[in-house]
Amino acid sequence: MTDFRSDGALALEWVASYLERVGELPVLSQVEPGAIRAALPASAPDEPEPFAAVLEDLDSILVPGLTHWQSPRFFAYFATTGAEPGVLAELLTAGLNQVGILWRTSPALQELEELTLDWLRQLVGLPDEFTGHIEDTASTGVLAAVIVARSLQPDRNVLVCSEHAHSVGEKAARLLGLELRKVPTDDRFRMRPELVHAEDACAVIATIGTTGMASVDPVPEVADVCAEAGTWLHVDAAYAGSAAILPELRHQFAGWERADSIGVNPHKWLGVPMDCSVLWTSRRDAFRDAFSLVPEFLRSPDDAVNLSEVSIPLGRRFRALKLWAVLRCYGRTGLEERLREHMRLAELFEGWVRDEPGWEVTAPRHFSLVCFRREGSDEDNELLLERVNESGEVFLSHTRFGDRYQLRLAVGSFRTTEDDVRLAWDVLRREAAAL
Ligand code: PLP
Repeated sequence: MTDFRSDGALALEWVASYLERVGELPVLSQVEPGAIRAALPASAPDEPEPFAAVLEDLDSILVPGLTHWQSPRFFAYFATTGAEPGVLAELLTAGLNQVGILWRTSPALQELEELTLDWLRQLVGLPDEFTGHIEDTASTGVLAAVIVARSLQPDRNVLVCSEHAHSVGEKAARLLGLELRKVPTDDRFRMRPELVHAEDACAVIATIGTTGMASVDPVPEVADVCAEAGTWLHVDAAYAGSAAILPELRHQFAGWERADSIGVNPHKWLGVPMDCSVLWTSRRDAFRDAFSLVPEFLRSPDDAVNLSEVSIPLGRRFRALKLWAVLRCYGRTGLEERLREHMRLAELFEGWVRDEPGWEVTAPRHFSLVCFRREGSDEDNELLLERVNESGEVFLSHTRFGDRYQLRLAVGSFRTTEDDVRLAWDVLRREAAAL
């Protein structure tokens, strides 16, 4: 039998010391494909093992197979943070093991979810006609929004997004048998609203903070087109949405209050451990009409609207607890401070690249993402990135636009300091010189 208290203390100590030393570990895992699996038994044990054995294997076998998303030197994709209050709340969530299938199966789960999303709505400056619920990911959120949009206009078989929108739109279109229409962008990578034809579309996805270069679609103009055509507007602000808590960035979100639905991922840039994706809508009735299905065995005498009636899954985790913990333990000012610091660090890095002969910044900098490349061929840049990442000192990722291979540095970890960003620049220049 395991001893919950002493094993728990060991596990907490493990996490605390991991977070202390994570900056020293190679950011990108260095193992070969299949190595982790090969190092572990092929079948489950017949007899019980102590929890300590799990921790031992975590150290010796699994840690080398981790890419350290908690590292302050993680600059790839969109860097994230599982902040400590959120980590602790995950422990509580598992301990409580709530299954929110109906309001009555966990009134606290449902009401805290509604309350925290209302707190966050106020923080990001959305009007109070928006109500929200938590999905696992933005992918599920986009899919759910498009399902609702389609249910309102079943004859419209087109989904519209920009050529730089995230592939979640394409996936939703494929799953729902819709045609995907990609709208060309301007020289700042923004969807060109005059080219949005929405009359036959069930939904248009506009993005605030595209994945490649964090560009911002002209949401007010796209909203006009959607209003004219009677088409659902979903705003995908999965990454950048958290930055709407900063008053000085609010202008980037102009028009999003006209959306029918909006997705924001606190698990990307707000310190909440994976997974926690917010889906707000000003059309909750439409969500309920599309998703409510209450079989006899789930009927209850209360008249609460269960969150399972406005989303795809029946059972839901108590995800609101970690969002609540992060919002409380950082407060608005603490979160603002961190986001501002990330933007400052990105701006600093951008300046270094700009000032260095042989390097160029390749897209306007939005939020905390810098796109850049070194003079030379795509192959040279690809090789450079491989060498940088193989070093284990930092981890960056790439994208492609303007028909060229582009390097990206995204600041998003609450643990990242100026020294870490400086190191990234030093490693890039060192490896470029060695090519
Ligand atoms: N939308 C945008 C703009 C993104 O950048 C991403 C991921 O980076 C997604 C959607 C997908 O997010 P998720 O992993 O939560 O599905």
